[in-house]
Amino acid sequence: MGGGRPSGWEMPHEPTSIGHVSPAIFSSAARPEIRFGDHRMDINFANRMSALGTESAFEVMARAKRLEAAGKSIVHLEIGEPDFPTPPLITQSAIRALHDGYTHYTPAAGLMTAREAVADYMSRTRSIQVGADQVVLVPGSKNILLFALMALVNAGDEVIYPDPGYPIYESLARFMGATLRPIRLREENDFRFDLDEFKSLLNLRTRLVILNSPHNPCGSVLERPDLEAIADALSGTKAFVLSDEIYSRILYEGTHHSIATIPGMQDRTIILDGLSKAYAMTGWRVGFGVMRPELAARMAQLMINSSSCCASFSQMAAIAALAGPQESVQTMVEEFRARRRIIVEELNKIEGVTCRMPKGAFYAFPNVSRIGREAKQLANSLLEEHGLACLPGTAFGEAGRGYLRFSYANSQQNILEGMRRMRNAVAEYLLPVMA
Ligand code: PLP
Repeated sequence: MGGGRPSGWEMPHEPTSIGHVSPAIFSSAARPEIRFGDHRMDINFANRMSALGTESAFEVMARAKRLEAAGKSIVHLEIGEPDFPTPPLITQSAIRALHDGYTHYTPAAGLMTAREAVADYMSRTRSIQVGADQVVLVPGSKNILLFALMALVNAGDEVIYPDPGYPIYESLARFMGATLRPIRLREENDFRFDLDEFKSLLNLRTRLVILNSPHNPCGSVLERPDLEAIADALSGTKAFVLSDEIYSRILYEGTHHSIATIPGMQDRTIILDGLSKAYAMTGWRVGFGVMRPELAARMAQLMINSSSCCASFSQMAAIAALAGPQESVQTMVEEFRARRRIIVEELNKIEGVTCRMPKGAFYAFPNVSRIGREAKQLANSLLEEHGLACLPGTAFGEAGRGYLRFSYANSQQNILEGMRRMRNAVAEYLLPVMA
């Protein structure tokens, strides 16, 4: 930002004490233009801010939208949200709720009816007994991750999380002063936990283990034997598990397994889930956590200290979604299944690119290491030069080097166009290598 005072800085000559205010002060012509942004003092941000990371999907989306506004054609395969509208029955229930006066605060952990609906849903879908006192509703399931770290992890405590993995795990763990213990997910192991590596990271300082199945960005899934082995390894420790199951309904093979269903694990597991992905409700900001009641009470206290409660009409919509007909979820998943086949087939046709078939979520994570360009540089040039928005694998951790992430939450036609652009770009990049 340039120095010097912008015009309009000068104070008006009229004295402006309260009770003796010249009406001219309120006219736009005379109003002094001292605005936010007229920097007079450096901001000394708190030290912890330097530890905070980000979710680059939002940044790439903003850049892509700027390019679009400037007239460039962009295929959006960067952001992880269903492109379907929220099912009308859910939207109608929220409109009804607004008319019925659900426009005020609710209890911090959520309306009792909403907590009961979540408890029923979790009992039904996970085959475990969940009570309403074990449920906390939050404005987006990310808050459950933040609150779990705040409630359980002291500075220096160790947190194990997948790498590649959802970037907010590392960002928030670092922000809380935790010692970071990323566990590498390898392509040759189908992007699942390597048990020996996991055991080598575990010790008595391990306080939280973050699992994510189905997985963002790899689309991998932890099967029941994986979860049993993880549970077994944890039995001698004091570690809690944060089981991020936000994609549990977006699964293409088999059934979803939660580590909470393994004997002894419900006590030390926090399940993170929400409405965003399964019901195309990302903008409604409603997620939830399921955990033991003492911990749920602490999370409610954190809610009192932050957002007070999740929006009341969103909670009513959540009841309609969880307890109502589920056909729309199935229809959406079937469409994702068709798109998954298209994107994976198209990626595998491109020379220098290989892609595994993801088992869940709506992301393809192709290996592009043979193209010979750093993934971030590759993603940048795909966006700037070819109008294809995607994320570099390194946006999900060091182990994402050599990969790109495409969200296939976009129409089949757009996916095909995106893959055409990818093919042209890669042909261009490979030319000098092969010449
Ligand atoms: N967990 C994972 C793995 C995600 O990919 C996301 C969103 O992209 C979230 C949690 C957060 O979802 P929300 O805050 O919308 O509930």
